[in-house]
Amino acid sequence: MSVETTAKTYLNYINGEWKESASREAEASINPANKQEIVGYVQKSVREDLNQAVQAACQAQRQWRKLSAPARGEYLYRMADVLERNLSQIAETMTREMGKTLPEAKGETARGVAILRYYAGEGMRKTGDVIPSTDAEALMFTSRVPLGVVGVITPWNFPVAIPIWKIAPAIIYGNTVVFKPAQETAVTAAKIVECFAEAGLPAGVVNMVTGAGSVIGQGIVEHPDIAAITFTGSDQVGKAVGQGALARGAKYQLEMGGKNPVIVTNDADLDQAVEATISGGLRSTGQKCTATSRVIVQSGVYEAFKEKLLAKVKELQIGDGLATGTWMGPCASDKQLNTVLSYIEKGRSEGATLLYGGQRLTDGEWKNGFYVQPTIFENVSPQMTIAQEEIFGPVLALIKVETLDQALEIANDSQFGLSASIFTKNIGSMLSFIQKMDAGLVRVNAESAGVELQAPFGGMKQSSSHSREQGQAAIEFFTAIKTVFVKP
Ligand code: NAP
Ligand code: MG
Repeated sequence: MSVETTAKTYLNYINGEWKESASREAEASINPANKQEIVGYVQKSVREDLNQAVQAACQAQRQWRKLSAPARGEYLYRMADVLERNLSQIAETMTREMGKTLPEAKGETARGVAILRYYAGEGMRKTGDVIPSTDAEALMFTSRVPLGVVGVITPWNFPVAIPIWKIAPAIIYGNTVVFKPAQETAVTAAKIVECFAEAGLPAGVVNMVTGAGSVIGQGIVEHPDIAAITFTGSDQVGKAVGQGALARGAKYQLEMGGKNPVIVTNDADLDQAVEATISGGLRSTGQKCTATSRVIVQSGVYEAFKEKLLAKVKELQIGDGLATGTWMGPCASDKQLNTVLSYIEKGRSEGATLLYGGQRLTDGEWKNGFYVQPTIFENVSPQMTIAQEEIFGPVLALIKVETLDQALEIANDSQFGLSASIFTKNIGSMLSFIQKMDAGLVRVNAESAGVELQAPFGGMKQSSSHSREQGQAAIEFFTAIKTVFVKP
């Protein structure tokens, strides 16, 4: 049976109600493992829908900010419980909509639950300091106030975790939200918002409007009643969002691309390094902003590392993320697949040696999906396109070096600075790496793609707007400081 006839239509969520777009147009969200399967239809919204959502968020904010933070926290605990009850169903939707394997999708949804609980607890923590005044009689302290309506613009690669790590801190600190998910994963987004609604979150506190980035995303950037914009996505779009926000004086936060290196030294535990390179570079089909893409290996272990890496990569099972045993799913979309293939072609034409993979997979069960082989290049020089630009696919570039200093120089030779890791047993090498590596996340004997929700997350250089998300760092973006001076 074709799923096409049964696919559900998902609506916008505005002021506590599910509403069709004024455009009366919906578009299909398709399964990258089987492009004939429509996961659902999502609204192709227009500015009018966005305006209604912003108005609802403005109105709701007046009441929402008056609640005590612990009372807001109670709502977040309930949202976490409903999300947890629906975990399997949401994870399955995510796999069908963007292709990552079901265990990964379940892990991500569980993370969403944990993030909601973390920020629910944040409602009980301190938000200010007492500062000694030069006036002995006065009381001087800081308090944190919400910004107002926050626009949340998110990518498709972590369709549950990223929206939640923005929405949860936004609302715990008293803001309300207009959420524009990536159109690619708007069904998954609607399912999260369904959980929020079921948890009884007051109308207007979180509103969702789906549609094209150039219409709804851009609309958020330009809307005079949106006080702040938090964005995760590509470098190019992010910079435009930042410029637009700056032009009208809105606060903004951008988390963008990466070109994350792993350094493997002569004294590394090679099995551990291989395991982490594969997991960090190829899980989620390489579509993580923290994915390993440059593998910088010291010459003493280069051949041994390469052999072990190749042997393991050849064994990876590629297929539909819903099937048991699948290790790597398809690229999330046709567009993403073509981007990856064009970078592979660039790697070849610029003279890198293709060691493994490089082909689109089109036989048998792969026939209707956006599958590409895990791909490894060697003889990659640091100036090649595949060593400089973010590919966002399962492609590893091996770079051989003699010394640690050389490795660090190459690792830092990038416009990006999101995440980096090193494999070594030498404490001196570890410290040198920690000190010299220009990245927001530096990890020793661990893959580049690990993130913990209670710790600050964000990049250096072109990877971010130099702010941090998650953990208690989130308060810096989602609130303003008020300095209070009281003279009796
Ligand atoms: P993208 O194309 O930049 O899209 C991100 C979001 O922006 C989507 O919701 C998109 O909407 C919207 N958008 C598009 N054009 C816009 C415009 N003119 N104004 C405002 N919003 C607009 O990125 P993506 O392809 O979805 O995601 C992949 C990228 O995200 C990679 O570069 C990756 O490194 C980055 N990423 C970074 C992090 C991090 O934390 N550093 C985490 C995950 C991903 P539509 O797509 O629906 O049109
Ligand atoms: Mg899709």
